[in-house]
Amino acid sequence: MRRGRWILHGETLDEKLIDGAKLADQVKAEVAGRVADLKARGITPGLSVVLVGDDPASAVYVGSKERTCIELGMRGETIRRPATITEAELLAIVDRLNDDPNVHGILVQMPLPKQINADAIVRRIRPDKDVDGFHPVNVGKLLIGEKDGFAPCTPAGVLHMLQAYGVPTAGADCVIVGRSNIVGKPMASLMIQAGVDATVTICHSRTRDLGAHTRRADVLIVAAGRPAMVTANMVKPGAVVIDVGMNRVPDATKKSGTRLSGDVAFDEVREVASLITPVPGGVGKMTIAMLMANTVRAAAQLTQ
Ligand code: NAP
Repeated sequence: MRRGRWILHGETLDEKLIDGAKLADQVKAEVAGRVADLKARGITPGLSVVLVGDDPASAVYVGSKERTCIELGMRGETIRRPATITEAELLAIVDRLNDDPNVHGILVQMPLPKQINADAIVRRIRPDKDVDGFHPVNVGKLLIGEKDGFAPCTPAGVLHMLQAYGVPTAGADCVIVGRSNIVGKPMASLMIQAGVDATVTICHSRTRDLGAHTRRADVLIVAAGRPAMVTANMVKPGAVVIDVGMNRVPDATKKSGTRLSGDVAFDEVREVASLITPVPGGVGKMTIAMLMANTVRAAAQLTQ
């Protein structure tokens, strides 16, 4: 297992920490190299993001996606529409992007207003431009191990982290807490693939005795959206703990009155784990980097 100390942004990082920021920078540097190669062939990879309404969190995510595209030499476009948009109007935007040869990746930011059927929108995106990996064709390709599909960015980022840190996964007991379509289920699909070879357990809110499962995990991946729900007594000594959770919790010491918390009680679990992701600075950083990697691959596949 690759371990050690390094200095980043002037700070010494604990050797148990998985440094999502550093890994994300490495992925982005590789993507920038592939963008340069494509540009030399006259192709500028392009991502179009559709943002409906004025949800402040969505606006922040979308802004950083567009900025990262531009930083890496790609074309990044945000199409903004009011929350009053109809489903037919949104489908027409997707159709236009599907047909535009300069658009290689399409992402419709969730959540959508309630008059719109989000499933219908996702199903309308061409699977070969669905860089979020939520279209049923890509969900299926991921499950059967077809490499030309797109895996959702957050679980893909988690797997990249495990591999970059040399975490042994073959035959390892991997326990995933959460079964959402954007994190838990695709995470399980990735971990059971040949070449990764973990033995996977998926837990959810109806799981009996959650701790009995999590204590068996060599690799514990938590995506439940419950602040600090995984405590030290639920973790096997030496386990690798990946915290996907991003929860806003009250914090009177902060100017905003809130802070970001993961699903893992970080201070106590780091004492038990062999490797752990912090929140922020862990999985979250990887998600956009993997989106960029998916987009540049979409551009390469669409233009070959
Ligand atoms: P979600 O759709 O709400 O799913 C949560 C899952 O956790 C559900 O399957 C739920 O079970 C399960 N769960 C909830 N409470 C539980 C409990 N007490 N015991 C066992 N299982 C429990 O959430 P999500 O979209 O997957 O997101 C999960 C977390 O990851 C959130 O904090 C989210 O903000 C974060 N996230 C982070 C990133 C990133 O880039 N870092 C990306 C996506 C999501 P049921 O199915 O039975 O309800």
